[in-house]
Amino acid sequence: MNAPDNPAPAVELLGPAEIRQLADKLGVTPTKKLGQNFVHDPNTVRRIIGAADIGAEDHVVEIGPGLGSLTLGLLEAAHKVTVVEIDERLAGELPRTVAWRAPAAADRLTVITQDALQTRPEQIEAPTALVANLPYNVSVPVLLHFLAIFPTITRVLVMVQAEVADRLAAEPGSKIYGVPSVKASFYGDVRRAGSIGRHVFWPEPNIESGLVRIDRHRDAEWNLGDRDRVFPLVDAAFAQRRKTLRAALAGHYGSAQAAEEALTAAGIDPKLRGEKLGVADFVRLATVSADSAPEYRR
Ligand code: SAM
Repeated sequence: MNAPDNPAPAVELLGPAEIRQLADKLGVTPTKKLGQNFVHDPNTVRRIIGAADIGAEDHVVEIGPGLGSLTLGLLEAAHKVTVVEIDERLAGELPRTVAWRAPAAADRLTVITQDALQTRPEQIEAPTALVANLPYNVSVPVLLHFLAIFPTITRVLVMVQAEVADRLAAEPGSKIYGVPSVKASFYGDVRRAGSIGRHVFWPEPNIESGLVRIDRHRDAEWNLGDRDRVFPLVDAAFAQRRKTLRAALAGHYGSAQAAEEALTAAGIDPKLRGEKLGVADFVRLATVSADSAPEYRR
């Protein structure tokens, strides 16, 4: 058998001993505020990368690389990896860790030191996938921000709190279906991609984690530009989720009567609650209100 043209670079993933060694070297005491629970289990890293289907053509963006557990696995599988880390000590150490554990991959890593929520589209060139063990306190806003500003991201595989994973992947009609579910499904097909126990982290969190995969819609009937009309409607519908849509959207449209007219024009029963509507219903409502009654536009 011939040797492959581009043999995968040798990468040594981080286990418990290396994670502790790095933390000691940096004097890092993981903080809850920044959701710092570091993965110290190479099998979990491989599982995440496998579930994301990362290939040699991918430019992966990772939010919160921490000590580099996932980053090293990503560098093994992807063409390029760009990471965004808010903690300066961790961001500063990462190139040294890559030089230590994956020297041949060092020039394929870009580190951006900042709050991921402040990331601007011009900072990262055409990422194709987002893979991250997201900081729990900002997981949903950060995920939605990256989906919004990088239309080139076609696949997402994120680890989040199990409860958040369930919410993101919930279907209309379920009790936990809400704003994150609709907004994530505006961008793509969302599904749970497995559960992760506590023991793979240092320190161990007191909650379970879950994997979520999002595959961006290829042929949706809407486009990113519709978001500014759709998302305010979604926020309004779930702000008072026990109310009928007629009542919940009264403020948005100016009156309950106007809300009822818009809902009826979109073929939606005004007596329903928001939790019954799929993203396509919200898009239709936003489009009908904008087309047929410009005064509804906000
Ligand atoms: N990826 C690493 C791993 O799996 O071991 C670390 C994951 S840890 C759950 C979350 C990481 O996100 C930490 O490194 C933390 O410093 C970083 N972080 C927290 N808030 C952030 C933010 N707003 N922007 C960028 N990084 C953030």
